[in-house]
Amino acid sequence: MGAGLAGLSVAVHLACRRVDQRVVLLDARERYDGDRTWCQLAVRPHPFEACVTKRWSQIEVHAPQEVGGACARRRLDVRRTPYVHLDAERVYARARDELARAGMTLELGVHVEAVRPRRDHVVVQTSKGVLRARAVLDSRPRPSNQAAGDTPSAGTSPALAQHFRGFFVRSEAPLFDPDVATLMDFRVDQRVALAAGGLRFVYVLPFDAHHALVEDTYFTPEVFPLGDEALAPFAAQARLTVEREERGVIPMTTARPDDEPRHRRIGLAGGVAKPSTGYAFDFIQRHAEVIADAVARGRPIPSYQRMSWLDEVFLGVLRARPEAAPMLFGRLFARAPAGSLVRFLTETATPLDAARVMAALPPPPFLAESARAVARRLRLPA
Ligand SMILES: Cc1cc2nc3c(=O)[nH]c(=O)nc-3n(C[C@H](O)[C@H](O)[C@H](O)COP(=O)(O)OP(=O)(O)OC[C@H]3O[C@@H](n4cnc5c(N)ncnc54)[C@H](O)[C@@H]3O)c2cc1C
Repeated sequence: MGAGLAGLSVAVHLACRRVDQRVVLLDARERYDGDRTWCQLAVRPHPFEACVTKRWSQIEVHAPQEVGGACARRRLDVRRTPYVHLDAERVYARARDELARAGMTLELGVHVEAVRPRRDHVVVQTSKGVLRARAVLDSRPRPSNQAAGDTPSAGTSPALAQHFRGFFVRSEAPLFDPDVATLMDFRVDQRVALAAGGLRFVYVLPFDAHHALVEDTYFTPEVFPLGDEALAPFAAQARLTVEREERGVIPMTTARPDDEPRHRRIGLAGGVAKPSTGYAFDFIQRHAEVIADAVARGRPIPSYQRMSWLDEVFLGVLRARPEAAPMLFGRLFARAPAGSLVRFLTETATPLDAARVMAALPPPPFLAESARAVARRLRLPA
């Protein structure tokens, strides 16, 4: 249910394993287009490698080392795990080819309206009729991952929404360094974000010297409309044309969805996005792989498993001390060893990496939040 990235990825992984089951994908959308950009640090192979259209060997942040301090640039060489861009149209086309080859059914323009689990099957009510399935994977977005029925990882887990408005711009003069992706630039007005209890930064993805995606990004408890102020510093240097836009909201939470093996939530709805950063592409692939393995072996379909403790602490600090957030990211990039940082971001961290990441961060807020996370797990009063 939902044939976006997560639904299609599971189908592709099932197709790769030649699973002998009838697979039907339902999606409310009428068509596929280049509706989003997917970027990630490339740490693992996946079935969409051929859809990578650009690789950056360097990433950078502009962030302070102290609360309220001046922003400094920190650049990391990620040649061994480059930051890559995948073209959505290619991802969708590749998935649809694979589905067709495997004889799977993809029905577009079908709204799933209700899901009713029975003892040994699931009844799915759609805008075009009723289906019965042995199991369903549900990626329909939900109003909030903290909605009633969700089980926080323990107690009340901290949650933020990452919401953004991105502009694909063309500059008449050469303006961008095509070798460096700017993941976070905190040299922007934080007042609106702070008043909303969160933080703000600009993300810049240069495709070449004249073209880039400039994305105004907020991590706040609530979502609100965004303007185009993020373009001002670029427009001050060169004549810009906005060719198109993208927008999105990604839940940042460690809450677990209310699901079970026969009705498993996947993708953003399944809480697969990394709680402290909102990245999801790679984790969706990993979950898809695990699900396909389980189906191929006739085992119950598992939820996505992550070591969420460090994310929970990080998210808790962002939520409790948003004014300190730019400094936290600044220190993370400046002080954590590059390898440990990349492994933390890509969920391949060892306990030693986790310790090194923690050591890069200022102790007081992190120790306090760690204590709160432990209290939540033990269900003690905070
Ligand atoms: C603009 C944008 C940019 C992003 N960039 C990155 C990035 O660079 N890196 C990264 O790691 N992550 C990124 N993400 C986050 C994440 O990877 C994507 O949101 C990804 O598409 C999530 O996959 P999904 O399957 O959970 O959701 P989707 O891909 O959104 O799929 C959900 C599907 O459910 C369908 N649907 C909804 N309601 C119903 C219904 N009632 N019945 C049937 N179908 C329904 C929708 O039509 C949709 O196709 C981005 C997200 C957005 C929005």
